[in-house]
Amino acid sequence: MAAKTVNVAELAEKLVGINSEIPASGEPQRDVEKGVAEFVEEYLEGIGISAEIIEIEKGRYDLIARVGPSSRLMLNGHMDTVPIGDPAQWPNGVFPRIQDGKLYGRGSSDMKGGLAAMLAALSRIDFTKANKGILMVFVADEEGFFKGSEWLFANRNDIFNDVKCGIIAESSSMRIQAAQKGLIGIQVTFEGRSAHASTPEKGDSAILKAFKFISAMNSFNESRSTIDSLLGKGSLNIGEIRGGRSQNTVPDSCMVSVDIRTVPGETSDAIIKEIKKAMEAYDIKDTDVREMKINYAREPFKLNDDSCALQLLKRIAGTAGLVGGTGYTESELYHSKAGVDCVVFGPGIKELIHQPNEYVNISDLEKASEIFEKAIREWCFGEEDNPEKLFH
Ligand SMILES: [Zn+2]
Repeated sequence: MAAKTVNVAELAEKLVGINSEIPASGEPQRDVEKGVAEFVEEYLEGIGISAEIIEIEKGRYDLIARVGPSSRLMLNGHMDTVPIGDPAQWPNGVFPRIQDGKLYGRGSSDMKGGLAAMLAALSRIDFTKANKGILMVFVADEEGFFKGSEWLFANRNDIFNDVKCGIIAESSSMRIQAAQKGLIGIQVTFEGRSAHASTPEKGDSAILKAFKFISAMNSFNESRSTIDSLLGKGSLNIGEIRGGRSQNTVPDSCMVSVDIRTVPGETSDAIIKEIKKAMEAYDIKDTDVREMKINYAREPFKLNDDSCALQLLKRIAGTAGLVGGTGYTESELYHSKAGVDCVVFGPGIKELIHQPNEYVNISDLEKASEIFEKAIREWCFGEEDNPEKLFH
């Protein structure tokens, strides 16, 4: 298909204008990604690429498309956004608008700007003589439970057979993100025995056990020595404590929840073992614990330096600089479940995601789109047509 001129800012504005907010908690299910998927399908058709929309469950949609021959580079992003939240916190309204070189609107940074940059790049390329191809994977539910990607791993794993690496256009503030932390959520409920506060010796305080647990968590955290060159050290947050009934009652129950961020070299299994050891060291017995739940456990991820996507982006975006991400992206899932190593690179501004008045810089949309175009050209045609790197 012949090259076409697409204005990336206008394209991003259109995508932002199609609502794909995930329902806020308590809200009924509804179509989330459908409008975006249909728009992208039509857009791709217009540039000669046929796409497939898949309803992975009621109201939730993935889109996949392939162009060019086998041995593909994956271009990946999610179509859902978090809810707008309180409209009063959007001083100029919640509808997308371009102003002062910025595109405002929910999803502009996270991550319809990234999708637009990829789509605009594709419009400028004629794939008829390509030696290698592209797999596009735009998914549902990244802001929730990764169901869009998980569905593909479970039901369409074949699409990844000829794919070794990819780019996720998630907000990275135009830096090359090559690593990210893992996360573990642990919730422990301690068992006690209630008694009147005037005779505490007749009871057994669950809050005092929780207090020992918090001390054990802090000492475990201080003992962690793994340091990653991009991510630094892991972290720990005691996020919730709930327990007790009244001032004059010995508490019979107390729940503590902890979020732990891990770095490469730390695995969830090993961390959980260390936590159990720390609990033993603080004299917390099995019978003190009513329930210990692991709410989530996702491993940290770091690309090998020779990973093809990382090499590609480094050649093209030159000195954009390698960074590690504190947040979790699906790159870890694609690595572990589909064998695809993804670099995260996108125009979205990390600090603005999920915030009111979210925006993306138009200049970054344009630059990202140029970088994606060069990456696609180099991958598909082996063109090293970028002697001057964009970040000099
Ligand atoms: Zn995102």
